Amino acid sequence: MQDVQYLIIGGGVCGVTAAESIRRLKPDARIVVLSAERHPLYSRVLLPHLVKGKVPRERVFLRTEAQLSAKQIEMVYGARAIRLDPAAHEIETVDGETYRYQKLLLATGGDVLSLGVPGDDLAGIVPLRTVEDADTIIAELSSDSSSERSAAVVGGGFLGLEFPPFFEKYGYTTHLVIRGPRYWWRVLDEEASGLIEQTMREHGVVIHAGTELVACEGEGHVRAIQLSDGTRVPVSFVGYGVGIAGAPSWVTAAGIAGGTNGIVVDEHLRTNVPDVWAAGDGASFFDTTVQRSHRLGNWLNAQEHGRYAGDAMVGAVTEPFHHVSAYATQIFGLNISFIGDLTESDDSIWISRGSAVEKKIARFHLRNNIVVGAALFNVMIDRATITMLIKDRVSVEGRHATLRDPSIDLKTLLG
Ligand SMILES: Cc1cc2nc3c(=O)[nH]c(=O)nc-3n(C[C@H](O)[C@H](O)[C@H](O)COP(=O)(O)OP(=O)(O)OC[C@H]3O[C@@H](n4cnc5c(N)ncnc54)[C@H](O)[C@@H]3O)c2cc1C
Repeated sequence: MQDVQYLIIGGGVCGVTAAESIRRLKPDARIVVLSAERHPLYSRVLLPHLVKGKVPRERVFLRTEAQLSAKQIEMVYGARAIRLDPAAHEIETVDGETYRYQKLLLATGGDVLSLGVPGDDLAGIVPLRTVEDADTIIAELSSDSSSERSAAVVGGGFLGLEFPPFFEKYGYTTHLVIRGPRYWWRVLDEEASGLIEQTMREHGVVIHAGTELVACEGEGHVRAIQLSDGTRVPVSFVGYGVGIAGAPSWVTAAGIAGGTNGIVVDEHLRTNVPDVWAAGDGASFFDTTVQRSHRLGNWLNAQEHGRYAGDAMVGAVTEPFHHVSAYATQIFGLNISFIGDLTESDDSIWISRGSAVEKKIARFHLRNNIVVGAALFNVMIDRATITMLIKDRVSVEGRHATLRDPSIDLKTLLG
């Protein structure tokens, strides 16, 4: 049995940032981070760049063992937590070790969901979440020497978008399978979806929209995929990103509220159980900037969550967590940013600014005349203004024309 003041489950950006925040405020406390992985913190954001050969593997790692031990943060690698007893304040790991905590943070991120179709366990079918996944993708894509190479990507989210440039780099024809009628159809209008799809097609991507993967075929290694519309596509690689798992069963078994959308916490990132917080990709939190609960999957949010949770665990913060989340990426030169909340609800209103002809579109998501989110394509300059609109919950009642007209400066809305 090990006695620990601050115990953190998960050595990703959220968990490590929390540990560092605690250390700043509590120079003598015992802080232990249990990590199911076997490396110090690395950047998942850089993994696509690693696969594309744009950064060397060692640059992906953000901390060294020496840096963490200099801060007296005890990292325990390969230590997957499997049981939580909130009454006894105990965590047990897969290797039978028990830790008794005073304060606990669940920063468990999320395991990738599998494709869930026959043949999905064949070799050559790989997600992208860990550095090992990146290694496998590089090994797979560089080992196929046939002249006609095709690969598929399944899943229409941000992670799905990362694969087509990999396939282009390694000389594959890309087949993109999306369930909806067009790209991000719940969030984007036809023009904005069209801009993404046009960009993909310019790079030879074949889009299979309105259809689903029903099976993967092959003997030992994938050789083809079957789609629900009857299409069969010969491929030698399948990349996928179809979401991440909900709250871990060992967490909910301990009486902590959670479900498919993650571990439930309030605006202070507290679970329903005393002395237990949850944060990062694994948490569904009450977001004061948009006045609703949701789960986010972006680096900045996980980092800010970690910072806040660390402060909250030592009692150094009383204000609720208040931060506007953002996710930015680039595909084939198209800059895409999602800011704030883009989940449609009954009271959602959408306003577009710009056009696909100019390859510049902003799409605003409003509820009750407040901008709660925005999807931006090649619109870099307005990001800070839009973030302030969301953060300050500025009313745009009677001022929709300003949002719609790209010739009017959005700063005028800040008044
Ligand atoms: C390929 C890729 C590209 C991305 N690109 C971007 C981008 O461009 N911009 C952006 O904003 N975001 C991006 N993201 C998302 C971003 O990386 C995540 O939001 C962020 O890493 C989440 O951090 P986290 O600490 O909450 O969770 P994670 O990074 O998932 O860390 C959780 C850790 O907890 C461990 N763990 C889980 N269960 C247990 C257990 N029971 N015991 C011990 N340890 C456990 C896991 O193994 C993992 O190491 C990307 C993600 C990926 C995968």
